[in-house]
Amino acid sequence: MNVNLLDLKPQNGALEPELQEAFLRVLRSGHFILGPEVDRFEKALASFCGAKHALGVSSGTDAILVALMALNIGPGDEVLCPSFTFFATAGCVSRVGAKPVFVDVCPVCFNLDLRDAARRVTPRTKAILPVHLFGQSADMDGVLALAREHKLHVVEDAAQAMGATYHGRQVGTMGDFGTISFFPTKNLGALGDAGALLTNDTALFERAKILRMHGMEPKYHHPLIGGNFRLDALQAAMLSVKLPHFNDYTAGRRRNAAHYTQRLSLLPGVSIARAEDCGCAKASAAESASRLILPVAYPHNGHIWNQYTLRVIGPGRRDALRAHLTARGVGSEIYYPLPLHEQACFADLGYQPQDMPWSHRLAGEVISLPIYPEIPVEQIEQVCAVIAEFLSAN
Ligand SMILES: *Cc1c(COP(=O)(O)O)cnc(C)c1O
Repeated sequence: MNVNLLDLKPQNGALEPELQEAFLRVLRSGHFILGPEVDRFEKALASFCGAKHALGVSSGTDAILVALMALNIGPGDEVLCPSFTFFATAGCVSRVGAKPVFVDVCPVCFNLDLRDAARRVTPRTKAILPVHLFGQSADMDGVLALAREHKLHVVEDAAQAMGATYHGRQVGTMGDFGTISFFPTKNLGALGDAGALLTNDTALFERAKILRMHGMEPKYHHPLIGGNFRLDALQAAMLSVKLPHFNDYTAGRRRNAAHYTQRLSLLPGVSIARAEDCGCAKASAAESASRLILPVAYPHNGHIWNQYTLRVIGPGRRDALRAHLTARGVGSEIYYPLPLHEQACFADLGYQPQDMPWSHRLAGEVISLPIYPEIPVEQIEQVCAVIAEFLSAN
């Protein structure tokens, strides 16, 4: 039996009557861009995320772009962001004309290393863009303290982490803006592209709202240069159907993560990442004896497990495990195989691979396993059996 990395059909199929009804409602309304469906979804999302305002936009990428535009970040400004993340985080910084300043990450939680961030602050630093990678919050006390000290704006890239918490606070609500993606692989997936901004600042919300529609206010008058970053009514209607089920999706992902950890941690050479090693500059002794390191949720974090990402230790070992999984029909993915400071498009920034040693190393070690909420438990067992077979044969 093949195990898919992700299968969206069971989740959307279970809601097919409601999704069809929502589709027909929008079809017959004749109102396809913004409007009442988007207003309604924004209110529900703000309430769910504990934010004062939510603004629906065209994608998670555009959410970051609009946040940076609303904060007036542009040429001459520097923005701190992790080098181990999806491209959009830093791509948006460059697109507004600012300079991404890459920061190394922690090998336990995969998020920004705040000590490295502090070292890279300059008089031009205007903002910090933490990413809550794989569904676990970054060290937001550290981010907010650094931001206060240097008067930086904070944009939280919560594309993978809607609903995750940090000391009980929802991610995306601690900075000036939080940005969310509803790309179908994210924990709340639309049936196409969609995203949102969260903010507790009413003035910033109003600015972002104007930027979403060409910087226009009132009609055909443009105090700002914005763009077309609008959310479709159809996507908002679909998301309104799925949002009430979000906590069930999270519960499923948590159950699956716990199942993997429970099974895999019994295998020889497998350890669980140690929360106390967060931010450590070098591998701990326990870690260097491991062949596989399982991900961990810090006790103060509510992890929503967008990904279950292991580290496979040893040169070539990750690729060997991936080939073994693929040969046995088990889907997996490498998030991410090349850190941003080594990407060709950022070559002019002049980074060397070893400037961010953990990002560089993790890119060669990580592999993500199937963890979507509806995956049958037998398939998780199968993935674990295939990994056990790999460890005993290699
Ligand atoms: C998915 C993702 C984005 C972009 O979201 P889209 O909706 O695909 O534009 C940005 N940042 C991170 C970390 C992501 O995972």
